[in-house]
Amino acid sequence: MDLYVTSNTSQRSRMPRSEREYWSTDRKFGLRIRDTEVQKFMGHCKQAGDRETGGILVGFYTETHDCAIVTDLCGPPSDSRSGKTWFRRGVHGLQGWLQQLWTDKRFYLGEWHFHPHSRAVPSKVDCDQLEEIARSGQYNCPEPVLLLIGGGPPQRWEMAAYVFPKMQPWVPLEERVRC
Ligand SMILES: [Zn+2]
Repeated sequence: MDLYVTSNTSQRSRMPRSEREYWSTDRKFGLRIRDTEVQKFMGHCKQAGDRETGGILVGFYTETHDCAIVTDLCGPPSDSRSGKTWFRRGVHGLQGWLQQLWTDKRFYLGEWHFHPHSRAVPSKVDCDQLEEIARSGQYNCPEPVLLLIGGGPPQRWEMAAYVFPKMQPWVPLEERVRC
């Protein structure tokens, strides 16, 4: 578990800030999320204990379409299933919620997962799911993002972001610290 104590991400995570920003090295893909939303995640992670959990990210894109701004997130829908190393997100109640947000020009952006006592790295199942979402006409989201929290919050944790562009390999996003 020393992993989490010594990693830079964990060190930075303890600093109070109002939002986090992640970018691909080529600056083609970005993600921004407020700390208030991150706190919501943490609540869901704490509730899940040593089981995986997750939900969806909602928001909008910047005018230049290169950065997803997360404005809302939800916890696991009631028909979700999970174990210690896997999570299958359900759909119950999502459609109504998304429709409501859509009238306010906020859209489905991607997924978030909690990997308890593990790294914030996508599993094979995660990759398959996100690739499927990118291809799916139902989601209308050709570049879904995946935000992962690993470790054991609130003490030791790391957060990482990835984007899964349709029919292309997934891309890790690096956290950018603002000065
Ligand atoms: Zn996962």
